[in-house]
Amino acid sequence: MSKIYSVCWNVTERCNEQCEFCYRTIVSDLDLESNKKIADKLLAHGVEKITLAGGEPLLYKGIFELAAYIKQKNPNVLLSLTTNGLLITEENVERIIELFDWITFDIESVSAEYHEMVGRGKRHFSKNVENLLAFNKRINIKVNTVATKLNIADIPLVWELLKKFDVKRWKIFRYYPITYKAKENEERFAVTDADYSELKSRIMAVTSDSEVQIDFNDYDDFRTTYFSIFPNGTLKDNAGNVTCNILNDSIDECISSIDLSNHLVRRKAFSKFVDKK
Ligand code: SF4
Repeated sequence: MSKIYSVCWNVTERCNEQCEFCYRTIVSDLDLESNKKIADKLLAHGVEKITLAGGEPLLYKGIFELAAYIKQKNPNVLLSLTTNGLLITEENVERIIELFDWITFDIESVSAEYHEMVGRGKRHFSKNVENLLAFNKRINIKVNTVATKLNIADIPLVWELLKKFDVKRWKIFRYYPITYKAKENEERFAVTDADYSELKSRIMAVTSDSEVQIDFNDYDDFRTTYFSIFPNGTLKDNAGNVTCNILNDSIDECISSIDLSNHLVRRKAFSKFVDKK
């Protein structure tokens, strides 16, 4: 029987950035009580890691209540927050550290102008450097970077920044023209196989002495490693078709038509980090 180990749960599609490579699914959010029911199902199934993401998950009003509910029901579940970082405040830093085991930010470049040009906004870069300082050594930190045609040459410079902090994982996504704005902007951002392969070699060369876990996420990884729940509770198969709604249907039924052939790989990646802050 198929089993899911980690879930990317997009609790809201709303976002305060307008990234031109965004591929989020535009559907309405569920209320907190419905999301608690989904959490119950995931925990009963034995999910080991839950990532609350979006959209921007800090725009979901019940985000901290949902996180607290999950941790109270199973303190051993690894709970992760993937945020664009803009809504981090002095107050919620402490709440995040208390509830979550991991936090993930996006840093695409060391240029504030690049972040602005791709729709993340002027403040994105400086705010996320502040966030690295605020969370450093207090929670497991992961950084995501989307490689596009426009920043690919500069991505090794991101490493020069990250290595100043206690970042545990760095994941580099190949820009994926799958849906929404990402699909519309393919010509502007698409990365060739050769360029992506060269980027990998350059990153491996500069990070070879580091203990930071470096991951690359290519098109196939998007299709077969993630188990994603959309804000209205729906799931999609590998072709992008909605298969069921996890709020109303059983998890076993939901996953029966989804190819999760590489899903176990992700489990191996995160299970390495058992050191909760
Ligand atoms: S990529 Fe993420 S941060 Fe950017 S608009 Fe989409 S959901 Fe928001």
